[in-house]
Amino acid sequence: MLSFQPLPATDPAHRPPPRFADRAHAMVPSETRALFSMAARDDVVSLAGGMPSPDALPVAALGAVLGDVIAAEGASALQYGSAQGDPQLREQVCAVMAAEGVEASPDDVLVTMGSQQALDLVTRVFVNPGDSVVTEGPTYVTALSTFAAHQARVVEVAMDAHGVVPQALADTFALLAAEGRPAAFYYTVPTFQNPTGRVLGAERRREVVEVCRRAGVLIVEDNPYGLLHFDAEPQRALCADAPEGVVYLGSFSKTLAPGLRVGWVRAPRTVTGKLVLAAESAMLSHSQLAQRAVSRFLTTTSWRGHIDAARALYRDRRDAMLAELAATMPDGVSWTVPAGGFFVWLTLPEGVDARAMLPRAVEGGVAYVPGTGFHTRGGERHLRLSYSYPSVSRVGEGVRRLSDVVRAETAR
Ligand code: PMP
Repeated sequence: MLSFQPLPATDPAHRPPPRFADRAHAMVPSETRALFSMAARDDVVSLAGGMPSPDALPVAALGAVLGDVIAAEGASALQYGSAQGDPQLREQVCAVMAAEGVEASPDDVLVTMGSQQALDLVTRVFVNPGDSVVTEGPTYVTALSTFAAHQARVVEVAMDAHGVVPQALADTFALLAAEGRPAAFYYTVPTFQNPTGRVLGAERRREVVEVCRRAGVLIVEDNPYGLLHFDAEPQRALCADAPEGVVYLGSFSKTLAPGLRVGWVRAPRTVTGKLVLAAESAMLSHSQLAQRAVSRFLTTTSWRGHIDAARALYRDRRDAMLAELAATMPDGVSWTVPAGGFFVWLTLPEGVDARAMLPRAVEGGVAYVPGTGFHTRGGERHLRLSYSYPSVSRVGEGVRRLSDVVRAETAR
């Protein structure tokens, strides 16, 4: 018979380190996360985080809606629900996507905790450790963390002013196939991209869909900013023209409130089925309360009117940023002109490194995200500016401070 001696009490300082799984070693804090604490100082204008403006959050209306949900739906709103998500909300999500030309059925939709969770589930379902995921270069920083957490190998494809270059995409797919490591999927933010603010042009959209179809590569279209367009009509989603070849990720974070954590994924039916199973194991069921609140908000308030007001607010801030950049940046600096969304991508003069400059910028009272965070390698001459959170006057002040820092840097 086995007998166990009580272990001597160990000094916590001498405990062996936790034996993390391989995938945990790839989980490291992103530069953006580390920046949030630094940029939170009152004397620093943060052009770093991509958060919605507090002025664009419908606080009173959501408060009323949440009260109504509890009053009218009581216990059922506080109960577990299905892993696929509230049926009524899934129907409403289909109507939201229709604005971008997508024809979907509620059966094709899974509600998620923001599009971030959708991205995690899609990666979980499609990527084995060591598989290649192809992305635009630069791309959304937390997508890179998600891919790293699933031990994917990220392969970047160059962009120009009109988005990803289709020939470069085709070449990359061919190269990976020849290496025997075909891409698991192509991840793209085609509209008002984070971090560049760029839009993939209409002709390019057709080309990208065709390149992926020919190569047999699934497209993961991440579109949290599409409805925040300043000038023209909303862009047609890639998913609208290739529903069988595209997994579409949507979110209410930028058009309603990120704190609700309500997003969704629309996929071909067989893929949705698998994603629902992945969601079940990840979270059992989504917050019924949050889903019902969004659903009721969409039926009882003018959501479109709310988005129109948010578009006007962000357009003013974008205009303030562009005007101040034009008025104050020294020669040799260039930037993108976004037609929607939250971001401007800035290119510094040759020899100026955005990451090295950051401590001096914070000293000078302004924060941004260095371009290196959005690439697997490179990006030193770039930085991302966001105009979504600070007021118009703070946006102007932040850009003036940044211009002074860049001018000092070029004189170093
Ligand atoms: N994708 C992109 C491109 C984003 O910019 C963000 C938010 N910054 C997300 C996904 C995640 O958004 P959500 O709040 O819906 O999880």
